[in-house]
Amino acid sequence: MARYKDEQCRICRREGQKLFLKGSRCYTDKCGVTRRNYAPGEHGQKRTKLSEYGTQLREKQKTKSFYGVGEKQFRGYFEMASNKKGITGTNLLQILESRLDNVIYRLGLGSSRPQARQIVTHGNIEVNGKKVDIASYLVKPGDVVSVREIRKDNPIIKANVEEGSSRPIPEWLDFNSEKLSAKIVRLVNREEIDLPVEEHLIIELYSK
Ligand code: SF4
Repeated sequence: MARYKDEQCRICRREGQKLFLKGSRCYTDKCGVTRRNYAPGEHGQKRTKLSEYGTQLREKQKTKSFYGVGEKQFRGYFEMASNKKGITGTNLLQILESRLDNVIYRLGLGSSRPQARQIVTHGNIEVNGKKVDIASYLVKPGDVVSVREIRKDNPIIKANVEEGSSRPIPEWLDFNSEKLSAKIVRLVNREEIDLPVEEHLIIELYSK
């Protein structure tokens, strides 16, 4: 019973979707959404119709939780996305996908985004040969993201690589599993992002 009170699983249950915040457990039948696919709390099983604003808000909260980003930073990404050419919603998701912690997760070096964030902040990663310990660092096409030579024996990274991720490495990342290094080939395409979100609703929310 206690395990369902887990904070991260509660976030998924509130959104009614698996957001994969807990690594390998998310792929088992212990997953909170698999076991209890209704919102947490006393009234969680009651279905309530959301207003337009409520729907937009939920899409934003879901995206923030998926990438582990706070409100201020998320708003900053929206401003950044608005100032770029192209579709603002796609720009927003591309920026979020370019975060270094997300790249480490996508490469399977971290079993979840929270763990990938820890791998970065603990100084295990370098970009273009220079140590970067900022999880929100944004990579760009042409950058090379690697596990630092002196950290290649990190037991968490080793275990994740040996275990092999059940998630395929996306094509926008060219990963060399021997060298534990990846080149950012290009920006991610919208259809490659597995987050079930209607990002235009987030843009509508912020544009009010
Ligand atoms: Fe918990 Fe992961 Fe399932 Fe979300 S996807 S409810 S974090 S086990």
